[in-house]
Amino acid sequence: MANSRYDLVVIGSGPGGYVAAIRASQLKMNVAVVERDRPGGVCLNWGCIPSKALLSSAEAMETIRGASREHGIEVGEIRFDFKKVIARSRAAAEKLSRGVRFLFKKNKIDLYEANAEVIGPNTVALQALDGKPALDVKRLEAERILLAAGSGERLFPGMQIGDGVMTSKEALVRDSLPASIAIIGAGAIGLEFGYFYQAFGTKVTIIELENQMLPGFDAEIAEELRRAFVKREVIVLLGHGYKSMARDGDMWSVTVDGAGAEKSVQAEAVLVAVGRAPLSAKLGLEKVGVELERGGFIKIDDSFRTTCPSIYAIGDVGRPPLLAHKASGEGVAAVEIMAGVRQPGFDLLSIAGCIYCEPEVATVGLSEADAKARGIEVKVGKIPFRAMGKAVAIGHPDGFVKLVVSKEYSEVIGCQIIGNHATDLISEVVLGKTLEATTAEFGHTVHPHPTMSEAIMEAALAAEGEAINY
Ligand SMILES: Cc1cc2nc3c(=O)[nH]c(=O)nc-3n(C[C@H](O)[C@H](O)[C@H](O)COP(=O)(O)OP(=O)(O)OC[C@H]3O[C@@H](n4cnc5c(N)ncnc54)[C@H](O)[C@@H]3O)c2cc1C
Repeated sequence: MANSRYDLVVIGSGPGGYVAAIRASQLKMNVAVVERDRPGGVCLNWGCIPSKALLSSAEAMETIRGASREHGIEVGEIRFDFKKVIARSRAAAEKLSRGVRFLFKKNKIDLYEANAEVIGPNTVALQALDGKPALDVKRLEAERILLAAGSGERLFPGMQIGDGVMTSKEALVRDSLPASIAIIGAGAIGLEFGYFYQAFGTKVTIIELENQMLPGFDAEIAEELRRAFVKREVIVLLGHGYKSMARDGDMWSVTVDGAGAEKSVQAEAVLVAVGRAPLSAKLGLEKVGVELERGGFIKIDDSFRTTCPSIYAIGDVGRPPLLAHKASGEGVAAVEIMAGVRQPGFDLLSIAGCIYCEPEVATVGLSEADAKARGIEVKVGKIPFRAMGKAVAIGHPDGFVKLVVSKEYSEVIGCQIIGNHATDLISEVVLGKTLEATTAEFGHTVHPHPTMSEAIMEAALAAEGEAINY
């Protein structure tokens, strides 16, 4: 077994941990990663990748339906093998997880498949996993430790998984399609599964405590999305809190409370998608003086250092937003700061949030309401996709781009997009934000025609009252 002394020991091999380990190795650190599940973490195995594989199957269904409805291409009765849909998603996850193993080898990173616990400021204890052979190495000594342990599913007290009650993890492997499902939570995960199941013909009810889908997002975007879901015949109960659940024959009866009145939703399956909680509790942190923040997130400074100077934290276990690209970005930043090749700090306002249902949603930076709350005077440039030739040509005219622009400098400080390929389009604005670009740069950069990205150029022009096509 390899050396057990390292410059850096990373706990967790999700998009935070594995990316940090590779960058640290590039920076000539001697690195080990400890992982108790599969390499790649939640993102590759139980999150982004398998869920997007499922969504691509939903999109294929929609494309086939749209072919006869909109393009005049006649297709026969659509049949599907749901087991294959799930198997394809698992194969994508498996392939990428193997890819992470390969990258560790290529970058000479030692992977310990074990449970890790911090037992000193520079020591990590390894515990063998159930059903796996005993470990040759029981402790790793490290100049620095990077906590990248991620997050886990959240449940209501007393709620039991099984018999049709699922978190996203069970839903990703359930290979029979429920006839009906109640989804508790209208955040990204609930909505993506809602879209997926609806596309395959399940009767979907979405229950959300707040008065809008995607709480915390721009209200206009959330309302546009609600309308799109309702148009697809999804039942959306906003302002309804989960109260209890009981078995009712072959069905679940979910009791919800809205505006003081109780209602019950009958469904064959229930998906609980009410957020995720950081996995900070069992890492041994109290023994080494690592303090936690509200909600169990690990307290870090702008160098990602915890309250124990040799220990750092990134990704879901560190702070919201709980997103894969934020975890990877923080992982790279943390090890570069350790190596002295980057200044402390990380711009959370340049982390985009994306939802991959149809229409897609993508946002970055401040919304108009956020800006007002911070006392920043803004102007808004808004362009509906129906004004764009490409959107009309491809049959996706719904949705819009909204750019939030500071009045003082005409700098683009936020963007919200709802519509086809919104999640790809947002990257232009993320780069522009990094460059502190203004409406002049977005608006005077000649965009290829016809593309959906022209809407960003037009929205920048619209903020200055100079839109051409709207
Ligand atoms: C269904 C779903 C869909 C999602 N879709 C998206 C998306 O489209 N885009 C996006 O940006 N984000 C998405 N996310 C969120 C994304 O998966 C997380 O933000 C991301 O995985 C966080 O990365 P991380 O490296 O911090 O932790 P994780 O990916 O959670 O990895 C942490 C790893 O640490 C391991 N670990 C924990 N404790 C220990 C220990 N004591 N010893 C050893 N190993 C340990 C865990 O086994 C895990 O593998 C989704 C999440 C879910 C659940």
